[in-house]
Amino acid sequence: MKKHNFSAGPSILPQFTIEKTAEGIKDFAGSGLSVMEVSHRGKDFVAVMDEAQALFRELLNIPEDYSVLFLGGGASLQFCMIPYNLMSKKAAYLNTGAWSAKAIKEAKFFGEVVEVASSKDTVYNYIPKDFEVPADADYFHFTSNNTIYGTQIRKDFDLDIPVVCDMSSDIFSRKIDVSKYGIIYGGAQKNLAPAGVAFVIIKNDLVGKVDRAIPTMLNYQTHIDGGSMFNTPPVVPIFAALQTLKWLKANGGIEAMEKINEEKAALLYDEIDRNPVFKGTVLNKEDRSLMNVCFIMNDGYEALEKEFLEFATGKGMSAIKGHRSVGGFRASIYNAMPKSSIQALIDCMQEFEKKHAK
Ligand code: PLP
Repeated sequence: MKKHNFSAGPSILPQFTIEKTAEGIKDFAGSGLSVMEVSHRGKDFVAVMDEAQALFRELLNIPEDYSVLFLGGGASLQFCMIPYNLMSKKAAYLNTGAWSAKAIKEAKFFGEVVEVASSKDTVYNYIPKDFEVPADADYFHFTSNNTIYGTQIRKDFDLDIPVVCDMSSDIFSRKIDVSKYGIIYGGAQKNLAPAGVAFVIIKNDLVGKVDRAIPTMLNYQTHIDGGSMFNTPPVVPIFAALQTLKWLKANGGIEAMEKINEEKAALLYDEIDRNPVFKGTVLNKEDRSLMNVCFIMNDGYEALEKEFLEFATGKGMSAIKGHRSVGGFRASIYNAMPKSSIQALIDCMQEFEKKHAK
């Protein structure tokens, strides 16, 4: 039976990435050795790093005065590195989900955190719109896509202080204006590569402004100076990331990806809105994520939740169970998710409706 992978992360990657990575694991650059077995300072791996950074720049149109880093520790280590390197006194955070909250928790180790707004009281089912960012904050942090709750902010904030964004779950899915940001970061394990590497796009002149001493590995300057090769980088995830970047470019880049993502999400949201058995969890349609589609059983059908999960799983839908804090279902439909898999889920929903609609 064909499996349709709706996992939130680690999640579906292009078949191209998986095949090319498997080839490189067996025989890297015709060397007869695995990419896992060769020096990261050898010319073949240096070429991988250079090309991955160059494609990042090309696909996202990253200005010259930014660096592209590939670091260990996941997005979670960035929750700490950002305030460590950028916060002198206080920073502003928008709290739109569990990952924002985790970033806030780490920032509090380094100074005052101003939570400009929060949707926590309603289990993060909307994006707060009315808030002010203090002009004297060292930076403003937000999470563009809330993987757990299925909400997304698809705009670039235009502020006079540096804007820092966790784009773990929507990088490369839509157009962004990098010049509006100080730092864009994320774990790679959704739209880019296997787990084990975080990407950091950082404006070079942001670092070196705080007075505190920063341990070498946690200092962005170390990694900017070392071209992301200060220590041994996660070579296999970076090699895999390069394959995804090549796939993105070959498939029309971000603009094409955004268009397809809009079409894919619309297909599924239209069905959720039409089908009487289900309903979406996000309060306002404009806040709905194009990457993680959250829905629950409609009123009167709550008792059928387990049955639908079993029914859909039996038809090859993998990992559609919602996060425990939201319940119901979550279909993660990242870049590599084909329309045909979304259609397969819709077919399941319609078949279930025929059986059960009152
Ligand atoms: N931020 C967001 C939006 C996420 O979805 C995740 C993981 O799912 C993280 C941060 C944490 O990433 P990592 O596991 O790489 O630390």
